[in-house]
This record gives sequence, structure tokens and C-alpha cells, in this order.
Amino acid sequence: MKYISTRGKVAPIGFIDMFLMGLGEDGGLIVPEKIPTVSAERLQAWSGLSFQEVMFNVFSLYTNGEIPEADLRKLIGDSYAGFTSPDVLPLTKIDDGLSVMELFHGPTFAFKDVALQFMGNLYAYVAKERGEVINILGATSGDTGASAISSVRGKEGIQICILHPDGKVSRVQELQMTTVQDDNVLNLSVNGNFDDCQRIIKDLFADVSFKTKYHLRAINSINFVRILAQAVYYFYAYLKLPEAARAGGINFSVPTGNFGNIFSGYLAKKMGVPIKQLVLATNENNILERFVREGVYKPEGFRSTHSPSMDIQIASNFERYLYYFLGEDAAEVTARMDRFKAEGQLTFTAEEVARIQGDLSAYSVGNEECLETIRDYKGKYGYLLDPHSACGVAAYERAGSKADGTFVSLATAHPAKFDEAIRLIGIEQKYPERISELFDKPQRQTAVDNSREAVAALLVDFYRVDS
Ligand SMILES: *Cc1c(COP(=O)(O)O)cnc(C)c1O
Repeated sequence: MKYISTRGKVAPIGFIDMFLMGLGEDGGLIVPEKIPTVSAERLQAWSGLSFQEVMFNVFSLYTNGEIPEADLRKLIGDSYAGFTSPDVLPLTKIDDGLSVMELFHGPTFAFKDVALQFMGNLYAYVAKERGEVINILGATSGDTGASAISSVRGKEGIQICILHPDGKVSRVQELQMTTVQDDNVLNLSVNGNFDDCQRIIKDLFADVSFKTKYHLRAINSINFVRILAQAVYYFYAYLKLPEAARAGGINFSVPTGNFGNIFSGYLAKKMGVPIKQLVLATNENNILERFVREGVYKPEGFRSTHSPSMDIQIASNFERYLYYFLGEDAAEVTARMDRFKAEGQLTFTAEEVARIQGDLSAYSVGNEECLETIRDYKGKYGYLLDPHSACGVAAYERAGSKADGTFVSLATAHPAKFDEAIRLIGIEQKYPERISELFDKPQRQTAVDNSREAVAALLVDFYRVDS
């Protein structure tokens, strides 16, 4: 298996090189040359496997034997040892139609841990095995940064710099990032919003000489390994459901921002998980809903919501979807992305919109509806959702009546992480100890202007350039 770019100008590369490259050197996103599939019989045979075993099976289809089996098993085992649920990702039945898969039992209480704990270990492995310099650069709306820092703090051979929008992440998210004292961690607090942070790092990654000189490595969902690690929980959720509940296929409702979480589901479906409906749930930043419903992909005014990790307008993984939507035609993807850059929007024909709606349905969930859903589910089922997970469940409420088959809604964060919103509806919760202890710790962060030059100047001092 080799990896190529959605823009067609990266010579096919192997698994580890793909992991290290992150964003394609032609500005495109990296995808596998051919998506491997798992037959229905083989999938059936995976029933009863642990999350780690399912992950091993899925990754083995992608790693080309570049990581010896025993090493891959150990990497996976180490990555989930810190999850507090014995199932790693427990599936909780809410009622006959709906189960919630909890992706938030990792060290930073958000679903980003599922992929990033593994990627941190994989970076350390590659640093050691290949003597590579690993300088990680990432932008975060809150959860990615905390999770990535937790996965590599204090690790030999790795430096990590994370940009977050100043004052626009939750208190707990900020503390999770900035109370880490290890010298290989640099937190930059940018005077702007998440899209500004993402644009700065995209520009730095697109500057091939800077990227090469400083060995920049990505942890954002532009990295295909992250997408792949997330695809595993779609397999696992399917396999965890009783036979009767999954017969004929299942549906997922997916809180998404950068199109990463939902794209992983799209990939799992292409690999053979019997998924009928993929419901894309957004908050009031609804570019993706407008894309699916109206065939217009166009960023509009940014809004701050109760689910800040989804406060995103420009979704980096959109291009991966576009690539498959356009029949893996890299020239056409390039032409459309150039048009998007020039005109600030893309529009799709009625025929195209019909095809998009065959792949995805989409619902944007307003702030009030989000809080209502949290209150409702607490009252009706005694189940406390965080605001991101509540967007997923609210979207299920609207989609579910029209669908047949069981729904799995992905719960992407622990409610304690977003207590600001939960308190608004008068629900009190007790913080897990790993969160409450953060409040007494000193913070480390550097304020920086909203510009690529300002960020680059700090990176030049922080990163190592040779091994
Ligand atoms: C990142 C995040 C999302 C959205 O994931 P994408 O990969 O951007 O689609 C949803 N919920 C939470 C809690 C997150 O941290």
C-alpha cells in the first residue's frame, strides 16, 4: 500500500513517510492509493475482539509491514493503557434506537485522545527507530492541543508547539495545555480565532523549505494516521452491538468541525462497515450543513458556541471527501480548490447535491437546542452529555425518525470538560480528580500576534534542527 495526494503531485510514499509528511507537499491531503476493504465474513469474525485488537487488524491493512507486528501491538497497547474504561471506548445503550459510544475516557477527556495517544507513541517510535527529528506543530480549538501535549510531553527527541486562540478555549482545556511544565512543550496563545491558528500552521506546512528545515510534523487531522485511528471506532461500535441491533446496517451521528471525525466514518464505510446513514452534526458554525443541504461550501461569520471544539469554518478534511466525491480525480480536485481559493466559495450542481446527500445528511444545532438536549437527556435517561456530544444527539433526534436501524451517536468529550455550558442549565457535576487538580497548577504560555511571521520567529528558537 502506498499513499498519494488529493492533488496528484506527490510520488507514492510508504506508511511512515506518509505519517511524517502530514500535509502533502503539493498542498493536497494524503490518502491511500487504494482503500483496503474488509469482507462481511472477516468483519463478522472480528466480533468480540477488544478495541486494541480491532485497531491492530485495521492498521495492519495500512502499514505495509513497515512496523513489525510485535511493535505495532505494543504501540497500540501502550496508547490505551491510560484509558479509564476497560472497554477503552464503552458503548452505552440509551434506548432501543440509540446507543452512545463514549470516546472520552483518555487522559484529556476528549475523543482526540483516541488518535493522538497512538500518534504520540508512533512519533517516539519513529524518532528512535529512524533517528528522525520530530518537531510537532499544531493548531487547536482546545482538545487537540491538550491531547497532543499529553501524548508527547517529556518524550525524548520530540518538541511540540501548539497554537490556540487566546480566550476562546474552555478553562479546563487551557489548563490541560498550559500547566504542563516539560521543556519540550511550547504553548502559543494567538490573538485570533481557531481558523487564524489553522491558517498560520497550514501556511507554515505549505512552505516546503521551512517545513523541511525544521522537520515539521502534524498532529491535526490533516494527518491521515489520525483519520485512520478514528475509523477504528466505527468498526468497534458496529462489532459491540448485539447481532439483532446491527443486522442490516447501522447509522452514526457524528459531532464534527474539521470534517475529521465524520470523514473517518466515511472511510470506515468504504472499508466495509455496514453504515447506512452518516449524520453530520455541527453547531451554529454550519458551513458543512450548508454544503450538504444547499451545495454551497462557503465560510460565513464565525460564532462562539457552547461547543468550542467545533467552532470551525474551514474544514481541512473537506478536501479528502471532495477527492472521493470527484472519483479520485486529482486534477479536478486541484481545479476546484484553486477556485475556492480565488472565489472564497464552491458551488455544486443539483445532481451533485443529490449525490452528496446520498453520502451524508447534516444538521446544525443551535445553542439553545444544544442546552435543551443536555437537559432532556439528563432528565429522561439520567445521562449527562457534554455540549459537543449533545449536538450529535440532537442531530440524531432530527434524523432518527426518518431512519431505520440502530443509531450510534458519538460522545466526543466528558461533560466536566465543558462545565461552563452545563452550569448554565443548573446542573452541578463533580470534577474527576484529573481535572480538579489542574486548578492549582502554575501555567506556561506565550502570547503571540496573529501572523505567520510572529509564530515562525518563535519556532526558530524552540525547534531542534538536527538529531
Ligand atoms: C475536535 C472535536 C470535535 C470535532 O472533530 P473534527 O475532527 O474536527 O470533526 C467534536 N467534539 C469534540 C469534543 C472535539 O474535541
